[in-house]
Amino acid sequence: MTDSNNKWEYAPSLEGTSHIQLKEKYDLFIDGKWIKPSNNRYFDTINPATEEKLAEIAWASEDDVDLAVMAARKAYKEVWSVMKASERAKYIFRIARLMQEHAKELALIETLDGGKPIRESRDIDVPLACNHFFYYAGWADKLQDAFPQRNIQSLGVAGQIIPWNFPLLMAAWKIAPALAAGNTVVLKPAESTSLTALKLAEIIQASGLPAGVVNIVTGNGDTGAAIVNHPDIDKIAFTGSTAVGKLIQKSVVGTSKRVSLELGGKSANIVLEDAPIDQAVEGIVNGIFFNQGHVCCAGSRLYVQESIADEVVRKLKQRMQSLYVGNPLDKNTDIGAINSKEQLGTIEKYINIGINEGADMYQLECEIPSKGFFCRPTIFTNVAQSSVIAQEEIFGPVLTIQTFRTIDEVIQKANNSPYGLAAGVWTDKGSRIFNLTSKLRAGVIWANTYNKFDPASPFGGYKESGFGREGGLHGLEAYLK
Ligand code: NAP
Ligand code: MG
Repeated sequence: MTDSNNKWEYAPSLEGTSHIQLKEKYDLFIDGKWIKPSNNRYFDTINPATEEKLAEIAWASEDDVDLAVMAARKAYKEVWSVMKASERAKYIFRIARLMQEHAKELALIETLDGGKPIRESRDIDVPLACNHFFYYAGWADKLQDAFPQRNIQSLGVAGQIIPWNFPLLMAAWKIAPALAAGNTVVLKPAESTSLTALKLAEIIQASGLPAGVVNIVTGNGDTGAAIVNHPDIDKIAFTGSTAVGKLIQKSVVGTSKRVSLELGGKSANIVLEDAPIDQAVEGIVNGIFFNQGHVCCAGSRLYVQESIADEVVRKLKQRMQSLYVGNPLDKNTDIGAINSKEQLGTIEKYINIGINEGADMYQLECEIPSKGFFCRPTIFTNVAQSSVIAQEEIFGPVLTIQTFRTIDEVIQKANNSPYGLAAGVWTDKGSRIFNLTSKLRAGVIWANTYNKFDPASPFGGYKESGFGREGGLHGLEAYLK
C-alpha cells in the first residue's frame, strides 16, 4: 500500500494482444463481400490509450450506401422474408455461438479501439452482445406467440446507426431483433470504433448468413445521413446524441420511414437516508465511472438526503482514491481511456464550467499516462440545480452531487431535466422504491443497483432521451408492423 491513501500497488497485468488478427485495411461489407469504397477513401482508427493507428477503415459514399441498401432489399425480397422463421433462428443462433468462440478477440479489439478497460469489454460488453443474439434467436420462430392475435409482418430494410460507447453491444442491440423479426440491415458503426462491427461482419460471413441480409458500411456523419435519407429504407434505428437525433427526426418527416431514437441522458441517482450506504457508494461509483462515464444512462446527477450527505461524500471520496486509471489492457484498470481527443476536450470544457460556476471540485489524485486521452474521475459538490454541469450531458467521468430533504423535493429535482433515460433509487424500503419509481420520469429505473442490463428487459427514454424501446419484446415490436 502507498502511504498517502489506501491504494494497493499492483504489478501490471496486461492482457496479451499477439493472437488477435487485424487487417491493415478494412473495406465495406456489402452483399456478403468486402468491397472497396467507390471514392477509394479511407480513414484511420486509433487506439485512444496510445494514439497509435490500428487500421484503415473504408469511408462509404452515398453510392456505397445505395449499393448496400440495394443488396439488403434484394436479400429481403428473395431470401430472408420468405425463409422459414425456424431457419432464420438457426442463423442468428449460429452468429451468437461464433461470437462466443471469438469472445476474447472481440473483447481485446473493443478495448484497443475504444479505450474501455479489458475487464469491462470481457465481462460485460461481449457476453451481453452474445446474449442479445441468443435471446432474439429464441423469438425468431415464435413471433406469433409473442404477439398473439395480431397480424404481424416484418418492415423490410432497416438502416441502423450506432455510437462509440458500446460499439459491439449496440450493433447486437440493433441487428439481432431486426433479423429475428425478418428484416434485413444496413448498419453504420461510429467513426472512432468500427473495428468490432467489422469483426462481427467477418463472423457473419463465416456463419453462412445469406449475402445482403446484413451489410456494414463504415464512415462518418455523412455516411449516416446517406442512410437516413435513402428512399428505399423502411426503418431508421439510431442511437447517439440528441442533436443528431433531432436532425434525423426532421429528415424523415413526410416519409413513411419508421424511426426509433435512443439519445442522451442526465440520469439521477437518488440515495435516501435509510439506504445501505456502502452498497450505495459502490453503486454511485459504478453508475458514473463505469466505461469512463461514456454511458447514455450514467448516474451523472447524484441526489443524497441531507442527513447522510457528509458520510456518503466522505466514503465516495475514499472509494475514488482506490480507483485505477490507466492502460485499458491492464486487468487492474478501473477507468480506461476517453474515446477520443474531441470527447476529452468536451469533458475538460465542462469541468472548467463547473469550476467557474462556483461548485467545489474533487478529483482522484493519481498519475495519468502522458500519451493517450485520460481523465481523472471528478465529482462536484455545492452544485446548483440550474447549473450547466447539472443540466447538460457531459458523457464522461464527472458527477454532480446535490442534497435534498424530502421525497417530493428530490422527485421534482430529478425530473427537472430535458432528459429522461434512467434513474437509480437506494433505500431499504420497498414502498419508497415503488413510490419513487412511479413518479420519476425515466425509462429505466434501478433499485439498489445501477447499470444492470439484460436482453429480456426493454431499454429506452422519455423526453429528449428519445422514443422507442430496445431489448425484450418491445425491441422486437419495433421491427414489426
Ligand atoms: P453522435 O455524434 O450522435 O453519433 C452517433 C452516430 O451517428 C455515429 O455513427 C455518427 O457517425 C452518426 N452521425 C453523425 N452525424 C450524423 C447525421 N447527420 N446523420 C446520421 N448519422 C450521423 O453521438 P456519439 O457522440 O457517437 O455518441 C454519444 C451520444 O450517444 C451521447 O449523447 C449518448 O448519450 C448517446 N447514447 C445513447 C444511448 C441510448 O441508448 N439512449 C446509448 C449510447 C449512446 P460518426 O461517428 O462518424 O460521427
Ligand atoms: Mg478507435
